[in-house]
Amino acid sequence: MRALARIDDGAITRNCTRLTEALGPAALCAVVKADGYGHGMVESARAAHAGGASLLAVATATEATALRDAEIDGVLVMGALSPAELVEAAAARAEVVVWDLDYLPTIARVARQSGTRIGVHVKFDSGMGRLGARDPMVVHELAERISGDAHLSLAGAMTHFATADERGDDHFPTQLRRFTEVVEQLKQTYPALIAHAANSAAVLRDPASHFDMARCGVAIYGLDPFGVDPALVGLEPALRLSSYVAAVKALDSGDSVGYGRTWIAEAPTSIAVLPIGYGDGVRRGLSDNGEVLIGGRRYPLVGTVSMDNVTVDLGPEPVVAAGEEAVLIGAQGSERILCEMLAKRLDTINYEVTCGVGVRVPREHLSA
Ligand SMILES: *Cc1c(COP(=O)(O)O)cnc(C)c1O
Repeated sequence: MRALARIDDGAITRNCTRLTEALGPAALCAVVKADGYGHGMVESARAAHAGGASLLAVATATEATALRDAEIDGVLVMGALSPAELVEAAAARAEVVVWDLDYLPTIARVARQSGTRIGVHVKFDSGMGRLGARDPMVVHELAERISGDAHLSLAGAMTHFATADERGDDHFPTQLRRFTEVVEQLKQTYPALIAHAANSAAVLRDPASHFDMARCGVAIYGLDPFGVDPALVGLEPALRLSSYVAAVKALDSGDSVGYGRTWIAEAPTSIAVLPIGYGDGVRRGLSDNGEVLIGGRRYPLVGTVSMDNVTVDLGPEPVVAAGEEAVLIGAQGSERILCEMLAKRLDTINYEVTCGVGVRVPREHLSA
């Protein structure tokens, strides 16, 4: 296969079990937006359920519809929804989020017109500076109006942390304190309300952030929320990206490889060509700046990453033959390439690495 993403659904299940144990009595909401961070949304959702997740979260109404079409229930759409998208979310029987008093009547109208009761979570902006009401009084007012509307039900109260992955910073405790105050007041009137704040990093960083439920994305896929190494926090990467050696060729000293001739052989060597490129999500920033595993050994990517091919320096006496598997993300033998390592090279985060695996790459799921 020229490019293949193999996803170990069992790893997603085990990561969810690990998080469920860390959460104790608090529930796990598995975040499967953006096609399950590139892992496949529906399969990830099923694997997360098997690992104890009780709710699923997505960002858009279209994603909620896709889960509904797969007959998967219990979905929260976290993102902003236009009125048309609200209609779609309601049809998918998803729960939605509100932070604006002026928008609440639109949600109530959609619920009335679609003949459904929409579960609504009130969002407090405790310091992310993105979606959410800044003023606690607005949060209380929203809760009151939702609980007084026959077409709506008050499902939860939420916030989102800006710096949970920066262990030891002082903004996280500030957000936590602000949200805790709001929740304590809300619970006096609505004791059944589900309070949720933690993302993956927060779950592992501070049990005080767990409340009634946590929304974990990156960790369920076995990516380290702190960007170092998932093994350090007991997580197992689920995604492996591979290609194969389509050709091996000898180069003389002075021969160049790829667009722009960015790499020139300093001595006679051999090059392997792998038929995978930035069109598949192997970022061009890895040009002369990456590694692949072949036959359990690590080799440097040389030359420019092109849309459909990359080139690898095998050295003067190659032990690699055409047809062998090449691994760009994941383990082979005792070697491994972590998304966290690629993220560091690319000056980005592991999230973007897996989300970037292209639609051209078929996903093969290993079920648990
Ligand atoms: C994406 C998202 C999450 C999941 O965050 P991770 O860091 O991947 O665990 C949680 N909450 C909200 C609001 C999100 O948008």
